[in-house]
Amino acid sequence: MSSNVSQSYPYSSETNEDRAATIARLVAEREGLAATLATESTPLDTNERWWTWKCPTRGCPGLLHAAGYAAEKHAVYVVCDGTCAKTYLR
Ligand SMILES: [Zn+2]
Repeated sequence: MSSNVSQSYPYSSETNEDRAATIARLVAEREGLAATLATESTPLDTNERWWTWKCPTRGCPGLLHAAGYAAEKHAVYVVCDGTCAKTYLR
């Protein structure tokens, strides 16, 4: 997993409302994502805005959205909304 924690600068930010709506949509669309998040992350604090990042997967146009905190690391657990559908730590 450590290779997924890279020095990457935020791309933009979004309101917590937008973030929550995107994560809810991705959880609804992707089988197993809810279980993965429940196992590997803990709920986020209440913030008004959250960073988003460009997905580092080659060829994937997605953005990474905060979904929780990584269970065992000091990192934000993020989900790609693009074609690769991967999760990363930021
Ligand atoms: Zn992606």
